[in-house]
Amino acid sequence: MKVLAILYNGFKAAKAEPRLLGTVENELGLRAYLESQGHEYIVTSSKEGPDSDFQKHIADTDILITTPFHPGYLTKELMAKAKNLKVCVTAGVGSDHVDLNAAVDRKIQVLEVSGSNVVSVAEQVMMSILLLVRNFVPAHEQAISGQWQVSDIARNAFDLEGKVVGTLGAGRIGHRVLQRLVPFNTKELLYYDYKALPEEAEKAVGARRVEDLKEFVSQCDVVTVNAPLHEGTQGLINKDLLQHFKPGAWLVNTARGAICNADDVAAAVKSGQLRGYAGDVWNVQPAPADHPWRSMRNPLGGGNGMTPHYSGTTLDAQQRYAEGTKKILQNYFENKPQDPGNVIVGVGKYESASYGQR
Ligand code: NAP
Repeated sequence: MKVLAILYNGFKAAKAEPRLLGTVENELGLRAYLESQGHEYIVTSSKEGPDSDFQKHIADTDILITTPFHPGYLTKELMAKAKNLKVCVTAGVGSDHVDLNAAVDRKIQVLEVSGSNVVSVAEQVMMSILLLVRNFVPAHEQAISGQWQVSDIARNAFDLEGKVVGTLGAGRIGHRVLQRLVPFNTKELLYYDYKALPEEAEKAVGARRVEDLKEFVSQCDVVTVNAPLHEGTQGLINKDLLQHFKPGAWLVNTARGAICNADDVAAAVKSGQLRGYAGDVWNVQPAPADHPWRSMRNPLGGGNGMTPHYSGTTLDAQQRYAEGTKKILQNYFENKPQDPGNVIVGVGKYESASYGQR
């Protein structure tokens, strides 16, 4: 079979660090295995436009491997050209870069390595909340640029203790974020999700479910987004919803960039309506140099905690999603059942609730 992987370039770093498995250079560690089984393995980062390797090779690819970090966007149109495609594997978590409805129609399975980087992201969420609330970025900028003006930092720095923190989405990551917030003695922990957490889990973190989204955001000092991107969450955080946020709230989004309207969020940060926004996910990846989230700052010069998409691709996470991808391929080649938690789209039907109520 022909296996095509769309990965990001690691260049010098990947040559020096073999644990950067999710790179073009290190090929998810799959080449020896795939070739020993007689499969052809093509690995590339070239993914945009009709002349890209992605679009050229997809025509006769049997198995496509992609990652959310350098997403190969498999649109309905591209899928129509992919005559042999049977399986798409996301090396990581989040398969919104694949047109899932089209995959259902075309009986193309979509699998991901569920859970592989949920701790990595939950830790990033904690870091992002703290760096916004404590106004870390401008303080660090002073440190490295030779300045020292404590009042300019402290005037917009707060403690997390005593604040209300809510997660939009309380699945694997959202629940782990709530668990990690417990020792910070927040005023209250809230969550908004289609379904309640299991009673014991809810009790253990002491979180309260709020069933109306506007009511939820209006009660939070900090909102963290931990839901998948699908029709129900695309552009969910926009000008209208932002009006219901507490004035000066902080927003962290490590789920998917397109859940937020980029211009509306940037405007809210610039006006101070949001005190800050942090995250690693962008509506287009790689993000263009003039993306509004690169340059936005609040009126006091802080409030921007953006990074490239890396929270779920720590070296620890890469090992887990590379192993998980191999396991999915082995199960497929050996006709063994897949771990049900990894199946987003089975043959001709959705198998996961994680893409919302459908
Ligand atoms: P998960 O376990 O499937 O949890 C997602 C939760 O969000 C589920 O409980 C889901 O409920 C809920 N949800 C769906 N739509 C919602 C909506 N409109 N409002 C409120 N809740 C909603 O997934 P996860 O492992 O926690 O991952 C969550 C997302 O994080 C992934 O889909 C991915 O996009 C992102 N992620 C980012 C990175 C990174 O590197 N930045 C890495 C991993 C994951 P239902 O199950 O009922 O739909």
